[in-house]
Amino acid sequence: MAESTIISNTANLQKYLALPQKGKITAEYVWIDGSNGVRSKSRTLSKKPEKVEDLPEWNFDGSSTGQAPGDNSDVYLRPVAFYPDPFRLGDNILVMTETYGPDGKPNKYNYRHDAAIVLNHNKQHDIWFGLEQEYTLLDINGWPYGWPKNGFPAPQGPYYCGVGTGKVYCRDIVEAHYRACMYAEINISGTNAEVMPAQWEYQVGPVDGISMGDQLWMSRFILHRVAEEFGVKVTFAPKPIPGDWNGAGLHTNVSTKEMREEGGMKHIEAAMEKLAKRQAEHMAVYGEDNQLRMSGKHETSSYDKFTWGVANRGSSVRIPRSVAAEGKGYFEDRRPASNGDPYQLTGIIVETLFGKVEG
Ligand code: ADP
Ligand code: MN
Ligand code: MN
Ligand code: MN
Ligand code: MN
Repeated sequence: MAESTIISNTANLQKYLALPQKGKITAEYVWIDGSNGVRSKSRTLSKKPEKVEDLPEWNFDGSSTGQAPGDNSDVYLRPVAFYPDPFRLGDNILVMTETYGPDGKPNKYNYRHDAAIVLNHNKQHDIWFGLEQEYTLLDINGWPYGWPKNGFPAPQGPYYCGVGTGKVYCRDIVEAHYRACMYAEINISGTNAEVMPAQWEYQVGPVDGISMGDQLWMSRFILHRVAEEFGVKVTFAPKPIPGDWNGAGLHTNVSTKEMREEGGMKHIEAAMEKLAKRQAEHMAVYGEDNQLRMSGKHETSSYDKFTWGVANRGSSVRIPRSVAAEGKGYFEDRRPASNGDPYQLTGIIVETLFGKVEG
């Protein structure tokens, strides 16, 4: 890493993190703000919670995060899941929360609320998701990490799953994030270097139901938090560099109990027919600026037209070759952008497959 960009001293910090906590724990409350980012703040608790209901509701100043007006600025944080804290260790925890207004209604940016209704209503289908989160690491000036200051690296080719100097950048951040997610009991299933240099991917899944969104958001929080210690920025922008450079997606792998059982292929095909009828509705929640990425080039499909095919990386949905061969399994929706909200996208997929649920 370029030493000049490291702005914190985590080596010195270790001495203090080793101090005993005298029976108290720290809970880091994490929420989603008004610009598709994460925020967090810390509070001391007198004991480790056993279940999420043991965690107190909290609040923050929503006028400082674009989530509420100044004259009525309290936004409430309701815990929905918690994880072992890979930064503070011990009994300390990271807490995922939902945001609510003073009237008890979900905040405008609380997409989890509606998603939980449709996902919980369809529990009998035992729906699994696997998300492939792509992202790009940037230097402090916002240029992809390791790229020449006023120029571009050699064309794409050697970087995907690359090994060696000049082929990958910031593997230390990727490794740190991978281990931190494992420690936090996020179901991280792997990681790889991507086609554009300084672009990476990790996968979370299979995870069922609403937990998918919780785990993915927490994994994003952990990534920002790890990269902060290295003085590196993370962007989830779907097309960070225009031109002949790959964009970043959030491929969404989906299966229901019926799709995974013998003869599941007919359920996958029925799902394709349903998805084809709602292309515009899906694209509306599959991430901002996604039309910049979905050019039909660089392993993407058309923004406007739904297509599917076996082993076809240029279609909206790909059925893996092994799934077609076995006649059962899952499908991969390749349309979501890297900045897509996992609550919105798992929610709309289940709504399209099984119908609207009145809240
Ligand atoms: P790709 O070949 O598209 O790069 P990856 O290996 O990166 O795929 O990611 C595939 C994801 O799909 C993983 O997170 C994996 O856990 C998940 N997955 C595997 N089987 C299923 C399934 N039956 N239902 C949903 N997700 C699945
Ligand atoms: Mn204050
Ligand atoms: Mn992948
Ligand atoms: Mn990828
Ligand atoms: Mn994929």
